Amino acid sequence: MDFNHTEDRAMLKDMVTRFLADNYALEKRNEAAESSEGFSREQWSRFAELGLIGALFSEEVGGFGGAGFDISVLFEELGRGLVVEPFLASAVLGGTMLAELGSDDQKAMIGDVISGEKLLAFAHGEPQSHYDLSHVETMARKDTGKWVLNGKKAVVLNGDSADALIVTARTAGSSWDEDGLSAFIVPANTDGLTVRGYPTIDGQHACEIDLNDVRLEESALLGKDGDAYPAIELSVARANVALTSEAIGLMEVCRDMTLDYLRTRKQFGVPIGKFQALQHRMATVLTEIEQARSAAINAAGRLDLSRREREMAVSSAKALAGRIGRLVAEEAIQMHGGIAMTWEYGLGHFAKRLIMLDHQFGDVDYHTVRFAEFSRKAT
Ligand SMILES: Cc1cc2nc3c(=O)[nH]c(=O)nc-3n(C[C@H](O)[C@H](O)[C@H](O)COP(=O)(O)OP(=O)(O)OC[C@H]3O[C@@H](n4cnc5c(N)ncnc54)[C@H](O)[C@@H]3O)c2cc1C
Repeated sequence: MDFNHTEDRAMLKDMVTRFLADNYALEKRNEAAESSEGFSREQWSRFAELGLIGALFSEEVGGFGGAGFDISVLFEELGRGLVVEPFLASAVLGGTMLAELGSDDQKAMIGDVISGEKLLAFAHGEPQSHYDLSHVETMARKDTGKWVLNGKKAVVLNGDSADALIVTARTAGSSWDEDGLSAFIVPANTDGLTVRGYPTIDGQHACEIDLNDVRLEESALLGKDGDAYPAIELSVARANVALTSEAIGLMEVCRDMTLDYLRTRKQFGVPIGKFQALQHRMATVLTEIEQARSAAINAAGRLDLSRREREMAVSSAKALAGRIGRLVAEEAIQMHGGIAMTWEYGLGHFAKRLIMLDHQFGDVDYHTVRFAEFSRKAT
């Protein structure tokens, strides 16, 4: 396997690194995270101008990337910058649903997503569904030529800022069936939609959604009635590649800050990094990060393979990112001592995101079981 980036991806990585170093100070990031939408519209436009949203879409739909390694290169840098703008919600989750299922007319919206003018969100998870992708109880039925949606969606990332929500609902089957799930484009101002936004502990933004007799034109359906599950699974697989890559960026920042601290903080007249007890702990952190990185690369490279190969690689990467992310965050805080707990010092913010990332789209336990289930399947 060739571990070197293509020239285009190496340029993308350098550009994002430089841009974030020059324009994305932690104080500004925290200010944006604490704003009503949880991110900065101005930064979002600048990211769009740089082509970063387009890098997450294939050329067929108007982007210039969209492969697993495009996602991983970009999200690793977004992790290093602790970026809160809605790349995951709008481009990876909403964007993949649109690109996978949309008609030509529906896909036309992707241009506006890439230019940053329109924001998408993916309203799929429900209060009872935990991480199970097929556990959907929101219902959609036909009534005099319209679709009528009823149900609840939970922890919808950036859903309160989106211009359009990609909402999943059951048009057939019972609550755990993979068959019978459909996806709809729901404009944010549709009657019957109630959206309650809130900040999450790691500086992200999410919302709860109620759908009460939301009436939609027939043309709101994405793809074929009842056939949305494969696209849902792919969107979430791509999101998990994004999250595992973001985790690598976050872990490397925690590692670098901790190494720096061990070299500069003195006790008994020497830097604390001279003490073997801390050196051993740091060595474990370094080797574990390499393991998480290998798994993240493996998942990014397997996104286009069979369902089984893709899901096994994604689940092993996400489970490792969860376990190792926690180790790195906790060790970094412990080795920093009290300074890690202060708001002004960056480490705690990186550690929080690293810990919470495990709870997005499946935690360690969920993905360990999922890996075992797919490994037992013959194909
Ligand atoms: C929430 C909170 C509440 C607190 N409450 C109190 C309180 O009520 N009273 C109080 O006195 N303090 C309190 N503290 C301070 C706490 O005791 C210190 O944070 C702790 O002693 C670490 O010291 P430090 O921050 O200077 O870290 P550092 O001395 O910089 O230590 C950083 C790392 O180096 C390690 N280390 C340091 N010296 C050595 C050594 N010689 N050998 C091996 N490893 C070493 C430490 O274990 C740690 O992993 C509190 C801290 C927090 C975060």
